[in-house]
Amino acid sequence: NLQDKLDRAFKVLKGQGSITEINVAETMKEIRKALLDADVNYKTAKAFTDEVREKALGQNVLTAVSPGQLLTKLMNDELANLMGGTVQELNITANPTIILIAGLNGAGKTTFSGKLANFLATQKNKKPLLVAGDVYRPAAIDQLEVLGGQINVPVYTDRNSKDPIAIAKAGIAEAKKNGQNVVIIDTAGRLAIDEEMMNEIAEVKSSTNPHEILFVVDAMTGQDAVNTAKAFNDRLDFTGVVLTKLDGDTRGGAALSIKSVVNKPIKFIGTGEKMEALDVFYPDRMASRILGMGDVVSLVERAQMQFDEKEAAELQKKIRKNKFDFNDFLSQIQQIKKMGNMKDLMGMIPGVGKAIKDVEIDDNAFTPIESIIRSMTPHERENPDAINQSRRTRIANGSGTTITEVNKLIKQFEDMRKVMKQFSNPAAAAKMMKGMP
Ligand code: GDP
Ligand code: MG
Repeated sequence: NLQDKLDRAFKVLKGQGSITEINVAETMKEIRKALLDADVNYKTAKAFTDEVREKALGQNVLTAVSPGQLLTKLMNDELANLMGGTVQELNITANPTIILIAGLNGAGKTTFSGKLANFLATQKNKKPLLVAGDVYRPAAIDQLEVLGGQINVPVYTDRNSKDPIAIAKAGIAEAKKNGQNVVIIDTAGRLAIDEEMMNEIAEVKSSTNPHEILFVVDAMTGQDAVNTAKAFNDRLDFTGVVLTKLDGDTRGGAALSIKSVVNKPIKFIGTGEKMEALDVFYPDRMASRILGMGDVVSLVERAQMQFDEKEAAELQKKIRKNKFDFNDFLSQIQQIKKMGNMKDLMGMIPGVGKAIKDVEIDDNAFTPIESIIRSMTPHERENPDAINQSRRTRIANGSGTTITEVNKLIKQFEDMRKVMKQFSNPAAAAKMMKGMP
């Protein structure tokens, strides 16, 4: 599946120090394959990977994030862009606002009609009227009435009529009479695209002039969803898409494909059968869902917020010159702490969350270290070599720790400095790696 493929693609980057022409090209090839498999059409997949590669190569890799993580973030942003970038609100200012619901049988039109009425009534302070326009199945009228009863929204029906156009018009007149300011017209679908159905819904459209025409589609139907969307859009020029049944483990690749083929905004997603199971469509959240990367994206964002690139460059320089001191060490500890709770932070890394579920991670692990460093004078922090025995005693007393703890920290710090210096010198690092098993 897409997840496995992406995992494999990211493996290429794992352990690489920076994003290079070669590792990005390889990763993008894998990702393009994965997107194609997830029903994204070729043109979109190619445009997407080209764009991400371009951006990736122009990026400086921050010390805090791996290239794989950075790339995930870039991909996430680009995917969100492709899916419209920002939330697309419904146009509901007219009084009454007419909303026409279209789609195939079983897509979730009737359910969505109820959810939308509920959403508008409870969150947008509207007074909606539902109109039962599916005249072919008496059960469809019953279904809408049951939903209307659950959410306390009136339903206009005419069980004697087989004319959806007349019903829609009568429903609008009824709303005007009763002061209802949104009319939601549920319609009949078909099992597949069919001329008669298309003619009928096109006529309902031309005789009611809807402000919104929402095309409802089952997200689980993959490439079919895209073909259906295209057929409906060619005929109806709809104003928005509703993706239903995103409550399972459907990844939502359909969102990307539909947007790229019909270029209409996705406005809502259905996430269950209940009337409350409706969400406004957020492109960035759908992007993370498609990438299925846990919450790496917010990890990267937090890291980017906290780690100043210039500071990182300064640090590199200091390490190279073996000038990394206790002040730097203290500020590194603070950076990590600023990023939040250790366990949450680690849990955002894919695969790690589950592994550390039952592990105790002590957020206070840094506290004694910090107080020891804070008990050093500025001169001592900048010149760790100058911290002699009497100074160590003073620091231990001042920080409420023991001489053993102070000795241990200074020893660890010195070892760390050595390793850091090694790694800042590529030749020395290579020599060291050779010595490893
Ligand atoms: P219509 O033929 O387009 O009007 O489709 P319906 O509204 O009757 O829905 C068909 C079936 O899909 C019903 O069993 C609904 O309960 C179910 N359904 C609709 N939306 C969702 C959703 O977002 N999630 C899930 N799990 N089921 C849904
Ligand atoms: Mg229906």
